Amino acid sequence: MPADSPELPAKDLRTLIPEYAGLARTATLLNPEPGDPGVRESSLGGELLWPADEPWPYCAQEDHWTFGSDPRNRTEIVPGAVPMVPILQLYARDVPELEFPPGKDLLQLVWCALVHEQDQGPVVPRLYWRNAAEIMAAGPLSEIPGVREGEYDEDNMPEPSTLSPKMAEDYPSRHDLPQDMWETWETRFRSSAGGTGAVWPPDSNVIATKVGGWPAWTQPSDWPECESGHRMEHLLTITGDIQLGDCGGVYFFHCRRCPGLPWDWRFDCH
Ligand SMILES: [Zn+2]
Ligand SMILES: [Zn+2]
Repeated sequence: MPADSPELPAKDLRTLIPEYAGLARTATLLNPEPGDPGVRESSLGGELLWPADEPWPYCAQEDHWTFGSDPRNRTEIVPGAVPMVPILQLYARDVPELEFPPGKDLLQLVWCALVHEQDQGPVVPRLYWRNAAEIMAAGPLSEIPGVREGEYDEDNMPEPSTLSPKMAEDYPSRHDLPQDMWETWETRFRSSAGGTGAVWPPDSNVIATKVGGWPAWTQPSDWPECESGHRMEHLLTITGDIQLGDCGGVYFFHCRRCPGLPWDWRFDCH
């Protein structure tokens, strides 16, 4: 907010601009804390409950690379096919606000932790909706392949963390404010609150790793559409809590109007 902004009035801005209150959505903040989460727990960067009869995913993009771990010798290493790394595992019991597909109670996310030339981010994510009891009945994979030195970029590797989900009210970032609200904000704010100087809409967007709510874009919004042309819904954001380099966040979306829950993802940089 610019330095010459007037003090925000004691009166809640949401009462001054009622449509703003209407944009509130409930998000579940995941609050990761470094720890040692087990496969039966929700986690960020922890081991996943993976079906033994399903091969662990690998990324074989030819152009993915890492700088390597030695900062004095930042040559690019191109390692070939590498195992993807666990990013997120969510049990339905921990995120009651998230609607799971019928019969599913476990959401898992992996990505390749190398850098990919076409978009310079942690990419090639994969998302899975599963039934935990079925995996337990058939037997979970006993050992998940770990990445070795040179097979990941540190910026794309979350530290194994347990989660303490907590619900919060979330508002759109300024990139997602409706145009007419953006354009009339200042006039309406002044007629109610007076003051001089620039007045920006409040940014009550929660920047955190979260499920639901609004994407915590750090750049202009870029909502994906499904193949049927529906604007997808925000599913979850991963940001801030892990070192994503100069990446602002990784955002996942899905379309619940189409069969098969098509999904897509975006990322942006500071
Ligand atoms: Zn890759
Ligand atoms: Zn759709």
